[in-house]
Amino acid sequence: MIRPRKTVEEMPRYDPPLEGRRDKLRLDFNENTQGPSPKALEVLRNATPEMLSTYPEYAKAYDFFARHWGVDVSNILATNGTDEAIRIIFNTFINEGDVVVLPAPSYALFELESVLFGADIQRVYYNDDLSFPVERMVEAARGAKLVVVVNPNNPTGTSVPQDAIARIAGEAELVLVDEAYSEFNKTTALPLLDEMKNIILTRTFSKAFGLAGLRLGFAISSPEIISTLKKVASPYSVNTLALACAIATLKDKDYIARYVDEVIEARANLIEGLKKMGFDVFNSEANFVVCRIGKDAKAYAAALRERGILVRDRSSYPLLKGCIRMGVGTRDQARTLLDALKEIKEEIC
Ligand code: PMP
Repeated sequence: MIRPRKTVEEMPRYDPPLEGRRDKLRLDFNENTQGPSPKALEVLRNATPEMLSTYPEYAKAYDFFARHWGVDVSNILATNGTDEAIRIIFNTFINEGDVVVLPAPSYALFELESVLFGADIQRVYYNDDLSFPVERMVEAARGAKLVVVVNPNNPTGTSVPQDAIARIAGEAELVLVDEAYSEFNKTTALPLLDEMKNIILTRTFSKAFGLAGLRLGFAISSPEIISTLKKVASPYSVNTLALACAIATLKDKDYIARYVDEVIEARANLIEGLKKMGFDVFNSEANFVVCRIGKDAKAYAAALRERGILVRDRSSYPLLKGCIRMGVGTRDQARTLLDALKEIKEEIC
């Protein structure tokens, strides 16, 4: 066997179940469960031959996105999903042995990239109630090369106070603030970028905006950091249609706002329903909730799957023993989930 790099040998595999999901109620990957804006589909229907046969051109699209976020074009880099932004950030800044502070539990990819680049991983565990461990993160950030903050966090669903992010950025060389779900807690560290040149925000079109299949993310940071990241980014990793659909989606403000508001309302209903069923459920500011089912967590996840509803068993994650993570979806989808859970509870008890 041809041996890969040592760090690749040591890397755990990220093996999410990616196949056979299309005919199911997909509450497992935190995607938009309603579908993209009709305006994005219209862009695809009207695609011209030239849009497909020429390499992408980015200038006009960058102007649009920069205006949308109230920043300069020199502050942004479009990437093939946030996953690529994360890979580029690690590839640009992380040397073997650098201290990378990761919240735990959090999105698995940060752990993977840290191992791939040979980082010295310092994990800071969330509090037992899944709130963000402010003081311990600030402490761990002191002198670290990179601190990762996910707001709101996946899988806990809990938010990070903005003043904590500023304090962390005051201690660490670099802070990556992943805002994949920020449409659902309606907060952003964007205003901090004026003062703190060492913060990199990442945004995605895979969640609230319903374009996961097109793969589009962004890194937003100081011009120095963005121009360094651009040295490492591959020149055409973002495709023409993804940019055009994302622009059409952002212009369709009402569609997205209505979906986000519906999810937020459905989230409150779901949390209340789960509590009434006697489950221990954590408050969430994202488009998913974590519920402590207990020893039957796996059985519940399997029974939901049999009913065509996909969720993620998160029992093996730190602090999440016996927990499953469930996407919220629309009001109707959340009700379908709750009804199925009630049936399963009767069967299992
Ligand atoms: N960040 C977080 C916190 C996520 O949960 C996910 C998706 N699971 C991503 C990034 C990846 O997003 P994208 O589809 O833009 O690569």
